[in-house]
Amino acid sequence: MATSTAPHFHNQPGVPQVRVGAKEFMCIGALPPLDHPHIFIDMGADADAICPYCSTRYVYDAALGGACEPAECVFAPSTGKAAAASARI
Ligand SMILES: [Zn+2]
Repeated sequence: MATSTAPHFHNQPGVPQVRVGAKEFMCIGALPPLDHPHIFIDMGADADAICPYCSTRYVYDAALGGACEPAECVFAPSTGKAAAASARI
């Protein structure tokens, strides 16, 4: 399946809901090492989904095109360290 290429999102800021531009994605809860088990969420026919681990409500917004709002909630496993480092500068 597309789990390996699905976008990863987290809710490190602790916002009530995160708008995402994908209906299929991974939720990791918070930035490592505080992340919960990375689970695949598929909204299917719905326009929103609630993560069973962190209770973050994800709302689909096609206009975001794979990104999310707040934008900082995107997590890129392969470039996570670089992104985190640049974000602190
Ligand atoms: Zn979660």
